[in-house]
Amino acid sequence: MATESETDFQSLAEHSADVICRVGLDMNFDYVSPSSFDVLGWTPEEMMAMEPFGNVYVEDLPMVAAAANRHLAPGVDAPLIQLRMRKKDGTLVWVEVSGRVVRDAATGEATETVIVMRDITERKTLEAKLSALALTDSLTELPNRRAFDEALDREWKRTLREGSQISLLLLDLDRFKEFNDKYGHQVGDDCLRAVADAVRDAVRTTDIPARYGGEEIAVILPSTNTPGATEVAEKVRSAVESLQIAHDANPDGKYWVTASVGIATALSRQGGTMQMPESLLLAADTALYKAKREGRNQVATALLLARKEPQSSGPPIEAPPSADGFSKSE
Ligand code: GH3
Ligand code: MG
Ligand code: MG
Repeated sequence: MATESETDFQSLAEHSADVICRVGLDMNFDYVSPSSFDVLGWTPEEMMAMEPFGNVYVEDLPMVAAAANRHLAPGVDAPLIQLRMRKKDGTLVWVEVSGRVVRDAATGEATETVIVMRDITERKTLEAKLSALALTDSLTELPNRRAFDEALDREWKRTLREGSQISLLLLDLDRFKEFNDKYGHQVGDDCLRAVADAVRDAVRTTDIPARYGGEEIAVILPSTNTPGATEVAEKVRSAVESLQIAHDANPDGKYWVTASVGIATALSRQGGTMQMPESLLLAADTALYKAKREGRNQVATALLLARKEPQSSGPPIEAPPSADGFSKSE
C-alpha cells in the first residue's frame, strides 16, 4: 500500500507542468509524470521503456552521463544541467534538469534520484537571439566591432597554432563626409548598407567581414597570404565602385562612391607573439592611409612577421615587401 508521502509525491507530480521522474541506480526511469507527453511527446510508459539516456541528444550525452555519475556521489548537491532532448517527432527541446538523490535513512546509501525537467526552449531561443543581436551592427547587419575583436583574437590564435598566416583588410569609403554633406545622412546610411552587402557578396565564405567603425569595414582573411588578400581586396574595391552610387565630390573615383583598402598579412611561426592582432590592425590602417594618400579607390598592402621565440611580449618584427614597407596594387 502506498505511504502518505508517496501519495503526496504522486499528486504533486501528476499536476506539474514540469516532467518529474524517479530514476533508479541503473539510470532507468521507474516513474515519469504525465507531462512528459506535453514536453517531449513521449508518454510516461514510452519513457520508462527507453534505455538510460535514450532520448538525450547525442552531443549532450557525455555531459549528462558525467553529471549523473557525479551526482550519485555522497555529499554532492543537486546539480542543475541544461541539455537537449529528442522529442518523439524528432525535433530537439532544451530542458533544464535538477536532481536530488534519495538516500536510505539508516545507511545513507543512495536508492534513487528524483529529477525535475523543465522546458527552457523559449529561454534558450531568446538567449541566442539576444547574443546574436549584441554582436551584430544594426545598420549593416554585419558583425559589429565586438564580434570583430573576438573573431580576430580567435583567428589569430588559430593562426599561431597552425603556424600559418592571416590577412586583414580594412576598407574606408572615400570622401564620405562630403557625401553626407551633399546627399544627407539618410542617403549616407543607405549607401553604407549597399556597400556592406557588396562586401559580403565579394568575400569568400571563410572570410569574416565586420563593421569596424563609422564607414569602415574590416574583413578577416584566415589562412590567406598577401597575393590572396590582394585578390580579395581588389574584388571588394571593384564591387563598391560597381555599385555606381553617384558622388559628385569624389573626382578620384569617377564621381561614384569608392573605397580605399589597406591590407596586412601576418606570417606566424610557432610561439609567435600574441601582440599580433593589434600590430596587424595598425599595419592594415597604415596601408589604408597609404592608399588614401596615393589617390584613393585603390589597394595598398603591408606584411608582418611574428617574432619566432618571444622573450617578452615585444613588438613584432616587420618584413616590408618594398623599401617603404608597402606595396600598391590596383
Ligand atoms: P577619406 O576619403 O579621407 O576617408 O574622407 P572621409 O570624408 O571619408 O573621411 P573620414 O573617413 O574621416 O570620414 C568619415 C565620415 O563618415 C564621417 C561621417 O560623416 C561618416 N559616417 C561615419 N559613420 C556613419 C554612419 O553610420 N552613417 C553615415 N551616413 N555616415 C557616417
Ligand atoms: Mg573613416
Ligand atoms: Mg572615409
